[in-house]
Amino acid sequence: MVDSIEKIVSLAKRRGFVFLSSEIYGGFGSCYDFGPLGVEMKNNIKKSWWQEMVRQRGDIVGLDSAILMSSKIWQASGHLTAGFADELVECKKCHKRFRSDEISRSKAKNQKSKCPECGGALTKPKKFNLMMKTYVGPLEDEASITYLRAETCQGIYVNFKNVLQTMRLKIPFGIAQIGKAFRNEITPGNFIYRTREFEQMEMQWFCSPKDADKFFDYWKKERLNWYLNLGIEKKHLRFREVKKSELAHYAKRAVDIEYKFPFGSSRSGGEAGWREIEGIHNRGDWDLSNHSKHSGEDLKYEGYFPYIIETSAGVDRTLFAFLCSAFTEVKGGRTKTTKSVKEVETVLKLHKRLAPIKVAVLPLVKNNPEIVKKAKEVYDVLKSHFMCQYDEVGSIGRRYRRADEVGVPFAITVDFDSLKKNDVTIRDRDTMKQKRVKIKDLILCLGKQL
Ligand code: ATP
Repeated sequence: MVDSIEKIVSLAKRRGFVFLSSEIYGGFGSCYDFGPLGVEMKNNIKKSWWQEMVRQRGDIVGLDSAILMSSKIWQASGHLTAGFADELVECKKCHKRFRSDEISRSKAKNQKSKCPECGGALTKPKKFNLMMKTYVGPLEDEASITYLRAETCQGIYVNFKNVLQTMRLKIPFGIAQIGKAFRNEITPGNFIYRTREFEQMEMQWFCSPKDADKFFDYWKKERLNWYLNLGIEKKHLRFREVKKSELAHYAKRAVDIEYKFPFGSSRSGGEAGWREIEGIHNRGDWDLSNHSKHSGEDLKYEGYFPYIIETSAGVDRTLFAFLCSAFTEVKGGRTKTTKSVKEVETVLKLHKRLAPIKVAVLPLVKNNPEIVKKAKEVYDVLKSHFMCQYDEVGSIGRRYRRADEVGVPFAITVDFDSLKKNDVTIRDRDTMKQKRVKIKDLILCLGKQL
């Protein structure tokens, strides 16, 4: 577990996980780009979620709806009215803007709120809508206004009938979707924790109102287990029941899954570090009844509006949590490259399913053409089965260290014996144990462990 956010930011940049968006122009509005390793890891997270939520079940189907939708949807969902707004205060002196719940949290009891930057007086809170506005078509008038979606789930609700009918489903069932969402956050920050463009993995479970509480508890447990099974320690995860006064406009009940990050505290204050990574919401019949009313389409099922239990996770936030949780420092080092007891080596102990690169292929030395040729042959065979990397630069110890730092579970070394015996060593990232395996058995052997 990492002890400071800076270590993750530095590793992420240095090793190609995450870059600042528009960096050569000085960065842009707290947006980030995912580099070669970041995109692999992100895809692995999404694949693991899809596998668990859709492929391994018979009662959840997938969807990929458009980001741009009729603005009437956002009217019906309540996002354009009071519902989807944070309270904003502005400093009268330096004109910086803050979310008022964050200011009130940081101030001591009975103390008047002041600007956290310059100590100036603050304006009264006013509502600030988080929807990102845009125009569709050649005319920039009222009629062409729409919004980038602020949550992926509205695309699911408006397709409820389409999916129900085409897939001949019966309640209870779920619809899952992964995709981008946009919010004009007042105070983005903490690296990729809060950004204005992010990706969500959402599942909407349609059930009868009388079963809603039962399924709420079921999904809470299922979702927590997903993080545990992917290697986050139990002591770094918890549930937080969202207070009635904090509930979103659509929610009857909400529980956040929180992870203990190396910064800040949750919106509700409390113990340092605990921050939401996923929300489990009972949305009641808010969405289907409102879309029925506004569209004129009957979205009832057997005469009633199904209740919706939603599980809503952020891809970027969970990636951040997985990175923090996997980050391990070994004082005095583990490989032979470490010269002093003070030196620290980093090992990213990511779950094998999440690791961006699964196998590193390393010739023991690069000045022996036969060894290099054999190593390249091994790489060519493996690369169509696993995400592989070929690396011949520097000492073998340095190369192990480089692979450990980005969480490569297995490093394969081709050495002098390999030329005679047609075998290689496989080194395990976590135990550093090595075993010899025949080249012809490699795919099977690695496949079993990955
Ligand atoms: P927060 O209280 O942190 O603003 P929220 O309660 O508004 O989050 P939800 O609307 O429940 O969040 O969204 C579900 C999930 O989507 C969150 O748990 C988070 O993982 C992700 N998410 C929401 N907003 C952002 C954001 N600005 N940047 C990155 N991820 C986000």
